[in-house]
Amino acid sequence: MKYVDEYRDAAIVHQLAAAIKRIATRPWTIMEICGGQTHAIVKFGLDDLLPGNITLVHGPGCPVCVTSAELIDQAVALTLEHGAILCSFGGMLRVPGNGIDLLTAKARGGDVRIVYSPLDAVTIALENPTKPVVFFAVGFETTAPANAMAVLRAEREGVKNFSILTSHVLVPPAMRAILGAADNRVQGFLAAGHVCTIMGVQEYGPIAQEYGAPIIITGFEPVDILEGIYLCVKQLEEGRAEIENAYSRAVKTEGNLHARRIVEQVFEITDRDWRGIGVIPQSGLAVKTSYADFDANRRFTLKSTTDKGSSECISGQIMRGVKKPHDCPAFGTRCTPENPLGAPMVSSEGACAAYHRYRSRAAP
Ligand code: SF4
Repeated sequence: MKYVDEYRDAAIVHQLAAAIKRIATRPWTIMEICGGQTHAIVKFGLDDLLPGNITLVHGPGCPVCVTSAELIDQAVALTLEHGAILCSFGGMLRVPGNGIDLLTAKARGGDVRIVYSPLDAVTIALENPTKPVVFFAVGFETTAPANAMAVLRAEREGVKNFSILTSHVLVPPAMRAILGAADNRVQGFLAAGHVCTIMGVQEYGPIAQEYGAPIIITGFEPVDILEGIYLCVKQLEEGRAEIENAYSRAVKTEGNLHARRIVEQVFEITDRDWRGIGVIPQSGLAVKTSYADFDANRRFTLKSTTDKGSSECISGQIMRGVKKPHDCPAFGTRCTPENPLGAPMVSSEGACAAYHRYRSRAAP
C-alpha cells in the first residue's frame, strides 16, 4: 500500500537504527508527543532497536487521556440529568470520571451514542428536534476543524438543539509546560505530523530556541519515527536546537489555512485543565461568545467537580516523560483495560494501553 509499505520497510528501519547508533555518543532523552506515535513505537519495538543511550519517553498527545474527569462528569450529567443525547467517539466511553463513566451512564438509561464524525451528531440533532443533542468535542488541533465545521453546519441549517461540550487542547503550550518543569528530562521532541498538517510549523521554532530542544515533525510509521529520532539525535550531538520538518509529504510550513480559518472563526484560546498534569495557561480552545448557542457549557448549568483521581495513577508523570508505564505499581494488576484506574489504560492512544497490549504485564 503506497505511503505505508515503504515506511515499514525492514531494511530501511535497520539502516536508520544503525545510523542512530553511529552518531549517538551521549545519553539523550527524546519525547514523542503523540499517542499514535507511542503505539507505533511499542507495537513495532522501535525503542528496542535503539542504542542504550537513547531513551524514548511518551508525551501527552492522547486527547482521551488528558480530558479532565470533570468533563466526563459533565458529559454524564448532560445525558442523565439534562436528558441530552450525548454523542461521542467510542474511546471516551470507558474513561473513568469522578463518578461513573459514559458506558455506565448508558447502562443506566442515558442516551449515549457513538458517532464517527461530529457531523453525524448534527444529523442526529436534525432527526430528534425535541431533544438536546450534545457532541463531546475532544481532541487536539487535528480534530478542531471538524468540530468547528459541525457548529457552522448547525448554524447554517438552523439546528437549535445542537451544541458541543469542548475539551480541545493545544500541543505547543504543553511542550512549554513539559520543558519548563523543574523535573523535566526531555531534551528533544518528535512533534505530531497530523497536528502540524493543520497548524503548520511556525509555532515550534521559538520553543526549540527558547528551551534549546530540537523539534522534529514526523509521521507515524516506523521509518518516519526512526528518521525523526535520527534527526533529533543529530541536532543534539551537534548542539543545535531547530525545528525540522521530516513529514513534508503531509505538512506545509503554513499548515492548512482553510482549516485554521474555520477553527479561528468558532474557537478562542483559553486555559485548560489537563488530566493528571493540571491547568496549563492558554492551552485549550473554547467556543467563542458569538457561537454561544452551540456551547453546552453556556446552554446547560453544569456542576464543577474536583478531580479525585486514583492515588496510585501516575499518568501525569508518564505524560510529562518523567516516568514510564512499567513504573506504575498498579500496571497490569490493579489497573487493566478491563478495570482501568486511569485514562491511559483504556484509550486507544494511551501509553499504558500500548504497553499492556504489546509488552509484558510485569515490569522488566
Ligand atoms: S497503569 Fe493505570 S494507574 Fe498506572 S499510570 Fe497507567 S492508567 Fe494510571
